[in-house]
Amino acid sequence: MAKLKEECGVFGIHGHPAAANLAYLGLYALQHRGQESAGIVSTDGEGLYHHREMGLVTEVFDEESVSSLKGNTAIGHVRYSTTGSSHNKNTQPLLFTYEKGDLAIGHNGNLTNAKSLRQELEIDGSIFQSTTDTEVIVHLIARSKEKTFLRRITEALTKCKGAYSLVFLTQNALVAARDPHGFRPLVLGKIENSYVVASETCAFDLIEAEYLREIEPGEIIIINEDGLKSFKPFNSTKQSACVFEYIYFSRPDSFLSERNVYQVRKEMGKQLAKEHPADADIVIAVPDSGAPAAMGYAVQLGLPLEMGLLRSHYVGRTFIQPQQSIRNLGVKLKLHAIKEVIEGKRVVVVDDSIVRGTTSRKIIKMIRSAGAKEVHMRISSPPMKFSCYYGIDTPMKEELIANTLDVEDINNYITSDSLGYLSKQGILNAIKAYSPMREEENYCLACFSGNYPVDISDENIINKQLDLF
Ligand code: AMP
Repeated sequence: MAKLKEECGVFGIHGHPAAANLAYLGLYALQHRGQESAGIVSTDGEGLYHHREMGLVTEVFDEESVSSLKGNTAIGHVRYSTTGSSHNKNTQPLLFTYEKGDLAIGHNGNLTNAKSLRQELEIDGSIFQSTTDTEVIVHLIARSKEKTFLRRITEALTKCKGAYSLVFLTQNALVAARDPHGFRPLVLGKIENSYVVASETCAFDLIEAEYLREIEPGEIIIINEDGLKSFKPFNSTKQSACVFEYIYFSRPDSFLSERNVYQVRKEMGKQLAKEHPADADIVIAVPDSGAPAAMGYAVQLGLPLEMGLLRSHYVGRTFIQPQQSIRNLGVKLKLHAIKEVIEGKRVVVVDDSIVRGTTSRKIIKMIRSAGAKEVHMRISSPPMKFSCYYGIDTPMKEELIANTLDVEDINNYITSDSLGYLSKQGILNAIKAYSPMREEENYCLACFSGNYPVDISDENIINKQLDLF
C-alpha cells in the first residue's frame, strides 16, 4: 500500500454567496500546510461540484474553475505528500455517492489503524478508490446503519484511531470534526452571517472572518440551515495537541490555543539562548523557519541579528521534486549566504529542527565558505528521535539523525563548532510564557520522547525521503 501519511490543511464555509471564492482564498492562506494538491467541493443544495488537481492553489484554480463551483457552501483541502503517493486519485476533498446522497471529505491528520480497518473493509467487499487513510472513514459512514448523519459519523470515527481534523460536505450540511486528542488544529470563525472552519486562523485573517474559538478535541460541529450545533459524542481523553505546530508547521501569524505562533517561536529562541548561550558576533536564521527563534535568541543575548542567509522563494516544488539531478544541487537552489555579513565573524545559526541533518550540514559548509570564523548551531526544538504517526511527515526513525547519533556526534557530522538543542521543558516554557496553560491543555511530544499517546502498533506507513530541496 502506498504511503498514507500526509500533511494537510482544511477549510469549510457555510451559507455564503461567495463560498467557492472564499474557500480558494482560505486554501491560499493554508498553502504552507500542503503544496502538492488542492481541491474544493461546493454545493447548492442539489448537487456537489468539485475541482481538484495536483499543484499549488494558484495553479489548480482559475476564474473559470472557481466559478464552476456553484452554491453557497464549500469545503477545501491542500495536501502535501512525498512523490510516490502523489496521484490525482488521492487529491482531496474525496467525493462519494452512497445510499444517503453525496458526501465529500477533507482530512488533516493520520489514522493509526487505517491499515487494519481497510483490510477488514476490503475482506468484506469494499473497493477503495484511493490509497489515503481518509477513505476508510467514508466506507465506515456508508456502512453504518445509524439513522442520522451525526450518529453515522460518530460510529465511524469511534472506530478510527489517531489524528483527524475533518471537514465534510453533504447537500445540506457542513460538518467539522476533531479527534478526541486534538492532535491537529481546527478553528471556527464567522464571516457576515456565515460560519467558517479552517486548520489555522491565518485563513480567517485573509478573508476577514472573525475568529470565534477552537473546535474542541472530540467535538463534532454540524452547520446547516438551522444554524450551528455542537456535539461531544466521544469519551473524553487526555488532550495531545501537536507541539510541532508551534515549532515549525503552523504559519507564524496563526494562533494556537489563543497564542500567537510567532511570539511562541520567538520565546523558544529566548529559552534556547538561556539554555545554550554562545560567545559569538552575530546571530543568523535559517530562513524562513528559523527566523522567529533567531530573533528571540539574539534579543536574549543582546547580539545583532543579521540576514546572513537569503532564501529564494521562486523554486517551485513541482519543478525540483521529480528531477534527482536538480535536487542534488541541494541547498544552493534555495539558500544563499551573504559573504559581506558573515566573513570573519563568529556566527550563531538558528533553525527550528534537524531531521536528517543534511540541511544543517550543507548550510554550515556554505557559511564557512562565506568566511565565518566559527559556526555555532542552535535548534529551537529537542533532538527529533522518533517518527510522527499523527500527520507530520517525518522519515523513518532510523533516518532521523538524532535517533542514531548523540548531540556530540551530530555536531561532528554537521561540522559545527558547537550544537545546542532546546529542551522539552524549554518548549513548554515558551508556550506558557504568553498565557498559562489551561488545566486540560496537554501536548504530544512523541517525536522527541517516543511516548506515543495513541497506539501505533498497527503502523502501516511506508516512510519516504522528505523532499526538502
Ligand atoms: P534535514 O536536512 O533533514 O535535517 O531537515 C531540516 C530542515 O527541514 C529544517 O530546516 C526544518 O525547518 C525542516 N523541516 C522540519 N520538519 C519538516 C517537515 N515535516 N517537512 C518539511 N521540512 C521540515
